[in-house]
Amino acid sequence: MKATKSTYISRTVRELKPSGIRRFFDLAAGMEGVISLGVGEPDFVTPWHVREAAIRSIEEGYTSYTPNAGLLELREEITNYVKNRYHVEYSPSEVIVTVGASSAIDTAMRTIIDPGDEVIVVEPCFVSYSPTVTLAGGIPVPVQALKENDFKILPSQIEAAITHKTKAMIICFPNNPTGTLLNRTELEALAEIAKKYDLLVISDEIYAELTYDDSFTSMATLPSMRERTILVNGFSKAFAMTGWRLGYVCAPEEIASAMLKVHQYALMCASTNSQYAGLEALRNGQGEVEKMVKSYRLRRNFIVNSFNEMGLTCHMPGGAFYAFPSIESTGLSSQEFAERLLLEQSVAVVPGDVFGESGEGHIRCSYATSMEELKEAMKRIKRFIDSL
Ligand code: PLP
Repeated sequence: MKATKSTYISRTVRELKPSGIRRFFDLAAGMEGVISLGVGEPDFVTPWHVREAAIRSIEEGYTSYTPNAGLLELREEITNYVKNRYHVEYSPSEVIVTVGASSAIDTAMRTIIDPGDEVIVVEPCFVSYSPTVTLAGGIPVPVQALKENDFKILPSQIEAAITHKTKAMIICFPNNPTGTLLNRTELEALAEIAKKYDLLVISDEIYAELTYDDSFTSMATLPSMRERTILVNGFSKAFAMTGWRLGYVCAPEEIASAMLKVHQYALMCASTNSQYAGLEALRNGQGEVEKMVKSYRLRRNFIVNSFNEMGLTCHMPGGAFYAFPSIESTGLSSQEFAERLLLEQSVAVVPGDVFGESGEGHIRCSYATSMEELKEAMKRIKRFIDSL
C-alpha cells in the first residue's frame, strides 16, 4: 500500500506566500463605515453601450466557444487599436485574447521559462509577477526602483542583476503601485539593455490609457523592440471592465503561436460575450475613456496635494490611479500604518511592502473612488497622523 502523503500540495505552492493585499481586504470586510482606498479597480460601471453589446450577443445566441486566440473580428480590431494608439503593427495571428491581463502574464511566463531561468522583476510591482515566474519553474530576480528616483528604474540597476540565466524582464509603466510613468528616453535606455543582453521584455501596459500629463510610449514601438517584446494589455482598467476578465497579448509570430499552445490547453478561450463587449469598447469607447481620465486627473491632483500638505511626501504619479505617499515621517512601518489606520480611522490602504522591498515606508492609495469619499478619507488620515 502507498504511504500516506503528509500533504497533497506541491512544495512550490506550499512555499508561495498568499497575496499581502488580501489580508487587508479581509480585515476591512468585517468592519462598518470603512472607506476603501485599497482596491485597484475603476469606480465606474462599464459604459452602457459596451454592456449592451454583450447583452445583444447573448440575445443573438452567441454562447459557444470562440477560436482559441479569440474572435478574429476582435483580434483585427485590437491590431487597429494598437496601431493607432501605440504605433506598433501586428497581424491578427500575433494577438491572443486572454482572460484579463493576468492570464496573459501567466501564459507568457509558462511559454518562455525553462527550469531555472531567471526573470528580472522590476519592483515595486503588481503582486502576481514573481509568483507566476515561480509557478512556471523560473527564478524571479527582484530589482528595486527607488523613491529617490520617483520609482523610475535605472538601466544600471537592471544590468547589475543580469546573469547568464536571465531570460527576460517584466516591467509595468504606468506602474501599479507607484503610478510612475517612464518617458521615451527612459524606456529606450531599458531597451538598450534588453538588446545588449538578448532579453525578452514583458511589458505590462494595462494602464497605458490612464496617463495625465506626459504621453505614453509602448516598449514595442521602440527601434528593434517589437521582436523581443511581449506586450500585455487589456480592458479592465481603461474601459472599467475588471469583472469581464478580458485582456490581450501581442507578440511576434513565433512567440504568439507558442503562447497559443499554452493558452488553448489551459483556458480554451476568453469569455465569448466579454469578447463582444470588448469589440464595442475598442470601436466606440474612446470618448468614455477620456471622460474617466479627466475625472481621475482631478482626483489625482486632489489626493497628491492633500498628502503633501499633511506632510506625507508624495510624487505626482504620471498614470494609473494610485498615489504612493511616503509614511516614513511617522516612524511606523507600512504594515503598522495600514493596520492602525484601518482600526483607528476606518480607512483601508495597502502597505507598500507587499509590492516589493522598496515599497516599504509607503502606502498605496487608489483614487478610483468618489471625490466625497476621498475628501473624507483625507480628513481621517490627517486625524490619524495628528494623533501619533
Ligand atoms: N497588471 C497590473 C499592473 C495590474 O495592476 C493588474 C490588476 O490590478 C493586472 C495586470 C491584472 O489585470 P486584469 O484585470 O486584466 O487581469
